[in-house]
Amino acid sequence: MDELAEIAPAAGMVEDFLTAEQVAIREMARDVAENLVKPLAAQIDEDDAFPRELIEEFGRLGLIQLAVPEEFGGAGGRVTEMCLVREEISRVSASAAWLAGNNTAGGVMPLLLGSTEEMRRRYLPELATGKHLTCIAMSESDAGSDVSAIRTTAVRDGDHYVVNGTKTFISSGPVASFGTVLAKTGPVSAGKDAISSFFFDASWKGISVGKKDRKLGMRGTPTGEIRFEDVRIPASHILGGGEGRGFALAMKVLNRNRPTVGAFGCGIARGAADYALAYTKERRAFGRAVYDFQATRFAFADMYMQIEAARSLLYRTAYRLDSDPDAPETECLSAMAKCFASEMCMRVAISAMEQLGGHGYMVDHPLERMMRDAKALHFLEGTNQIARIVMMRDK
Ligand SMILES: Cc1cc2nc3c(=O)[nH]c(=O)nc-3n(C[C@H](O)[C@H](O)[C@H](O)COP(=O)(O)OP(=O)(O)OC[C@H]3O[C@@H](n4cnc5c(N)ncnc54)[C@H](O)[C@@H]3O)c2cc1C
Repeated sequence: MDELAEIAPAAGMVEDFLTAEQVAIREMARDVAENLVKPLAAQIDEDDAFPRELIEEFGRLGLIQLAVPEEFGGAGGRVTEMCLVREEISRVSASAAWLAGNNTAGGVMPLLLGSTEEMRRRYLPELATGKHLTCIAMSESDAGSDVSAIRTTAVRDGDHYVVNGTKTFISSGPVASFGTVLAKTGPVSAGKDAISSFFFDASWKGISVGKKDRKLGMRGTPTGEIRFEDVRIPASHILGGGEGRGFALAMKVLNRNRPTVGAFGCGIARGAADYALAYTKERRAFGRAVYDFQATRFAFADMYMQIEAARSLLYRTAYRLDSDPDAPETECLSAMAKCFASEMCMRVAISAMEQLGGHGYMVDHPLERMMRDAKALHFLEGTNQIARIVMMRDK
């Protein structure tokens, strides 16, 4: 099936608005997807682990550190570039796409949006090497959607804060070199105004990895607990400008990163639809190609129509965030792009799988994997229910 899957009818209008540089980045990502990732995609899922070489190669190509600004040695990728790369790689493996821009939400963005020049000069060149994965540690066993309910504490002690608590479901947590953690500097019973955020080095004393999660999809992207036991974080590592600013900073980071979750969705959906289309052109039933049944063609029309609608919303949002990130409508657009693309992706993944009949359900084809990966998007950067709350806030 591999050669048949080359067919990519979802060219789309989005391409009309890309700069030459963005087209080049997308071409590079497409090449990485086809030649480097595709041959490994099924194995990554099967083993639930990345081959070490893939992480090294992504770092060498500048993909892990895509969002580090050029002045700190990175590629200076913005939301649009992040989306383009994640979309292209997700066509063959959403898990591998997770590596692209991996250190953005847990490292680059919190540092750029909320740290001092000294902190940026200290850590961003390190992140620009592409050797480090990062994580953002907000959720706890009893606090997911309701971040204000976290119980991790950070108590000031001289020039340090002493952090205690356990974070759950942390993407890249088990393998991250650095990260951003949310903790209460005020009373635990207090709400979001008591939350502060800190940048940490995962090698510091008292930080350990707890239970590793076994997931339905996005396998190969390690997710798990991170424990903080009397971890001394220098006071200089507080983010957002001081105590009580951690929640606002985290929401800003999520707002700017949400579209990239939508990009996973567009990529998975395109990969699934293209694969199924190629299959139905070859597969015969009742004396003709399955694709020649009108019902099959209608199913593909629906798939590509939804994909193109999601991509239009996604790249419009990315463009808006890149040109005016603090514009009030970006929060709503960003939540819409993530929510719409992830739900579209689930529908398309199921429909694409069905076009292969029983074969689609088997692991010999990538469609069952794509469907499992698609579901993860519902929960990332807040659930789609929370995304809907964000959309309608202040309306
Ligand atoms: C694959 C994966 C990766 C993750 N990576 C990270 C990570 O890197 N860092 C991190 O900090 N967290 C991460 N998480 C955790 C994720 O952010 C939470 O799972 C998510 O925010 C939901 O929290 P919860 O699971 O505690 O569900 P709950 O908050 O208990 O919600 C249960 C249900 O109630 C709904 N709900 C809750 N409140 C409302 C409301 N006000 N209105 C309507 N519905 C509501 C939810 O949408 C959900 O359907 C990850 C989760 C997954 C699955």
